[in-house]
Parts: sequence; structure tokens; C-alpha cells
Amino acid sequence: MSRHHRKRKSDKIRCTKSKSPFTSSEIDDINSYDGDRDPLFVIRATPAIGRYMVAKNDIKAGSIVIRENPLVVGPCVGGRVQCIGCYKGLEKESQKFKCMGCGWPICSIKCTGQGMAYGHTEMECSVLKECHSGDFLSWNDIGDLRINYHSIVPLRCLILKSTDPSAYQTLMDMESHNEIRKNIPEVWLRNQKTVVDKIIKQWKLTEHTEEEVHTICGILEVNAFEIGQQGINVRGVYPTAFLMSHDCVPNTNHSDDGTNFTLTVRASMDIPENHPITLSYAYTLQNTLKRREHLLENKFFDCYCKRCSDPTELGTYLSALICPKSGVVPIN
Ligand SMILES: [Zn+2]
Ligand SMILES: [Zn+2]
Ligand SMILES: [Zn+2]
Repeated sequence: MSRHHRKRKSDKIRCTKSKSPFTSSEIDDINSYDGDRDPLFVIRATPAIGRYMVAKNDIKAGSIVIRENPLVVGPCVGGRVQCIGCYKGLEKESQKFKCMGCGWPICSIKCTGQGMAYGHTEMECSVLKECHSGDFLSWNDIGDLRINYHSIVPLRCLILKSTDPSAYQTLMDMESHNEIRKNIPEVWLRNQKTVVDKIIKQWKLTEHTEEEVHTICGILEVNAFEIGQQGINVRGVYPTAFLMSHDCVPNTNHSDDGTNFTLTVRASMDIPENHPITLSYAYTLQNTLKRREHLLENKFFDCYCKRCSDPTELGTYLSALICPKSGVVPIN
């Protein structure tokens, strides 16, 4: 799936005592977001759809709406075996080295991601070492080795709790959809087995609760961007960009730089004042049936955007069948 069409959903309002710059109320219009420049957007919220981003004034196509660094970055779920420092693929036996500290796979002892904020930090290395996580890695079983990577980003989120409490709070204020996800056994039990049990039962990091780890899994599923350049495939969560709502005809596109994963979101069309700033969490080249299925199964909501509501998909007939008698028949 293209990383440029994959994202998250923030949904219901969460009334917390957080340090988030945004508060949730019936209608909450914030004009002074504490970014490093005057933002082109404001955040609004309603009980029905939660927080979302709208254009503060008219935004011209091509304008940069957001540019920001991630809160956390790391391997994708279901990805290949990769260096936990720089994320280079390490599927070939000859490519794998063990980190001298924790024993996890790295590309070389000179890996450029070792000790880096968005790579394998010294703190992470010491946590992974102290809990003997390296002892549980099956180097001869690539499938099992891959599953271990599911826990790396959740662990990085948990580490933020002590190294950057404000970033951790920003993360925890995001939507996790725990109540919905608890009722989807394949989602909840998969996380229980591959992440929660690993961190708490196998690595014995018992200072964290199962609920907390499940919440982090949900936050990542709902809010993470799939990012990376030149064959590197990672996921990252950003402090502001997650507030963009979904539309199957989005009015922005985004890219990330390959070095520090800075995300740049640009307007892909003119966006009028007060209009939602959107991106698509689904493949825009897939038809309505596929997009809606993806959104429901992975982002936990039904899309009723203009495109989803129109059997012709705004005149594109992307889902249409060709009938020998009647010609093109739109389906939805
Ligand atoms: Zn590396
Ligand atoms: Zn290490
Ligand atoms: Zn839609």
C-alpha cells in the first residue's frame, strides 16, 4: 500500500487532563497552536467526529500546511527483518549483525542509526538488553524474527514516558479505539500475542499494564503514517498531522525526508477558509468497495464522503461494470 495514501483516524472526543495544546469541548476553535510558525489551520472539535483540522484562511494549492518531526518512528507491523538502527533490510543471512549491547539485528557495527533519536537509542538498547529480549530472537526462523519487530515501536512509545513525558502525553491523547478493537478478536488477540505478551510476559517489563500496551497498539494502528524513502519502510506518529481527517478525495499530499523523517504536508488544491484539511487513509486508486472495507477494518469507521456516496465515484466510474446490454453500470 502506498505510504502516500495510508494514515489514521482520530475520532471521538477524548476529555482528558492532558497537556495537549487542544482542549475538547462542544466546539473548540483554537487559533494559537504552539508550532514554530503561524499555522495555516485551526483545530475544531465536535462530539460526533472529534477533533479535526480546518483552513484558518484560504490556502493556495502547493502551500506547506504542516512540517514536523515524528514523536516516534520504527518498523512496520508485517514488515521484513530490518536493522533497528537505520531500517535497512536484513533478510539475507550475510547481512545480519547483532547489536553488541542488546543482540538485536543491525546492519553493521558502524550503523548510522545507532544512538540516534529516530533509530536505536542507547536507552532502547539498554532496555532490550536488561530484559534479555535478544535471547528470544529466533535467528533461523525469519517469520518468528519478523514478529518480534511488532513490539519495537510500542516499546519506543513506552520509553518516551520517561525520556519525554510531554511527547508521551501527546501520543496518549490520540484515539486508540480500544472499545471497538476489543470486539475484533483478530485485532485484539493478535496484539495480545505479538506485542502485549511479549513486552509484559516475555520481557517482563511489568511496570506497564496490558491496557496501556493495547492502547499504544491502537494509537499506532489508527494514527501512524507509513513513511520511509529508498526501500526503507517504517511507521511514524506525528504530533499534529494526525488531526487531518479522512476524505477519499483528499486536499493534501504528504512526503517525508529520508534522514530524520520530517513530514511535509502540502495542499494539493486550493482549500477555502474553514474547509477541512484532509488526507486519504485508503488507496485513492482503489474502488469504493475496497476503500470502505479497508477503512472499516483498519481505521474502524464507515466513510460517507462525497465519493463514497456517489455510485459513479464523482463521474470516474472506477467501480463500474461493463454490461453488454446496458453499457457501463456503476456499482457501489
Ligand atoms: Zn543500520
Ligand atoms: Zn542494541
Ligand atoms: Zn469515502
